[in-house]
Amino acid sequence: MIAFFELLIVAVAAAALIIAGKAQKGKTSNPVPRKTMRCPSCGSTADVRGGYWECPYCGDSGSV
Ligand SMILES: [Zn+2]
Repeated sequence: MIAFFELLIVAVAAAALIIAGKAQKGKTSNPVPRKTMRCPSCGSTADVRGGYWECPYCGDSGSV
């Protein structure tokens, strides 16, 4: 009987992982790949959007 319950727990855990994986896939699917560059002011990773970059760390921005 113990083996049966273990199997049931494994099956439930696997189903939960599949559901979580599907939910994560839908969340992360971005049609536009996010570009990044090095901030010339502080050297941290800055976001690039449509020929324009903005550093979330120091707040600096400019055109690419
Ligand atoms: Zn910066």
